[in-house]
Amino acid sequence: MMQRAPDFQPDAGVVAGAGVGRGAAVLDDWRAVLACPVCGAGLDDPARCGGCSEEFGEEGGTPRLMSARSSAPVRFDFSGARSVVPEELKRRVLKRPAVGVAGKLPYHMDGGQATVLAGLARGSGVLEIGCGGGQNRLWMRERGLRYLGTDVSKTRVYEHLQAFGGPDVLADAHFLPIRDESVDCVYAAAVNEHLACPLRAAQEVWRVLKPGGVYLGNCSFMEPWHDESFFHMSPNGVIELLLAARFEIEFVYPGAGWHGFVALPRMALMGPLRGLAPLGRLFHLVYRAQTWAANARRRAKGKAAHDPIMVEAKIAGAMTWIARKPKGAA
Ligand SMILES: [Zn+2]
Repeated sequence: MMQRAPDFQPDAGVVAGAGVGRGAAVLDDWRAVLACPVCGAGLDDPARCGGCSEEFGEEGGTPRLMSARSSAPVRFDFSGARSVVPEELKRRVLKRPAVGVAGKLPYHMDGGQATVLAGLARGSGVLEIGCGGGQNRLWMRERGLRYLGTDVSKTRVYEHLQAFGGPDVLADAHFLPIRDESVDCVYAAAVNEHLACPLRAAQEVWRVLKPGGVYLGNCSFMEPWHDESFFHMSPNGVIELLLAARFEIEFVYPGAGWHGFVALPRMALMGPLRGLAPLGRLFHLVYRAQTWAANARRRAKGKAAHDPIMVEAKIAGAMTWIARKPKGAA
């Protein structure tokens, strides 16, 4: 599900025929790990579950492995130790990862997350939740990754993205049609704010990841309410979500260049008024000038300057994360 303006990363990676190679071959490759989203039984036949007899349809040739009968209690351990995010934890995880990938990235992809993806062993299984038009498929394949793109819909994306072939499977992030511990990486960008129960979805990601597997995600923070979004997350919200779902957090950081001052006008203004969006950059400049002045005063008094990432996080359009399912997790 894409919500940002199409010019956020203009048509990066648009390649004719990027959808080629989809379909039966992809599903055959993933068949061994498909599971019924109702009862969890292995799904040898994507049309019907042998365990609970649930029938699954398709939309234009794309299997629709979703059911309104899927249901689960959501339980998690919460302790008073998490009522406040410890400063030490914030300092440890609020930081930017190294970026070491060359070339243009697909629409929406974060450089730090792309670096993690590019570093996965060839043949690693990557499950994308909310793959939109499927614009990441070719990039993933070119890196030797086994890729399965899922989304809740084939049409909730910009038309220009639909040219990428769309999802391999229609699926609900709260009830992934995937067996336990069967993928090496889950990638979910611009999707978490659209989840009615983000904790359930994070627990599903944890379930399908192999121990040591990596979870790359992001979530709206200062973006306007858009496209039926539910929960927008502050840095603390992201940290708590990941801890509640038992992930080891490696990085939580503001999406590069995507702050509230540009996210709000780009996503809230309509028609010709969108031409006013650059004014957001002016407000951002004022915000930065205010920080420079505050830091100058602090230094004059011998105090430490404000941490630049905290300054950016305060107004981030979206928060991005890199987390891992612990190696010894069961
Ligand atoms: Zn079933």
